[in-house]
Amino acid sequence: MPENFVRDISFKSLLEPSGAEFRVKSNACIKKLRDPMRSALRGIAEVLEGFGVEAVITSGTEDFKHTAKRSAHYRGDATDWRSKTLDVADKPKALAALKKLLGPDFVVILENKGKPQEHFHIHWSPVYHGSTTERGA
Ligand SMILES: [Zn+2]
Repeated sequence: MPENFVRDISFKSLLEPSGAEFRVKSNACIKKLRDPMRSALRGIAEVLEGFGVEAVITSGTEDFKHTAKRSAHYRGDATDWRSKTLDVADKPKALAALKKLLGPDFVVILENKGKPQEHFHIHWSPVYHGSTTERGA
């Protein structure tokens, strides 16, 4: 655990059973996340930790000024993650790794790329697989 982890009292920490750790920014809320997004948090944190940065959720289900992409946040299907701590060269790699981990049912975007408010926006948006019989095993 990095030293500043405990010093930074504006954040609360969460420890998931696997040991993958992530923080939730003090003005963000993940209480109302629905299961698909919630179950992905630990894996997302593991990917980001793999790039040597702390995994920090900067936005979840808290209220914000409405934008089109916020709707997934309101539903409890989206989280935003800090990207500014990653090396520039690692950002596309992390984006690809997150997409690979989460599969087609999640949308992963590096939003506001290159700007101060840059972040990974991730939301659950299940693709239509056809009927369950066509979907196969
Ligand atoms: Zn977002």
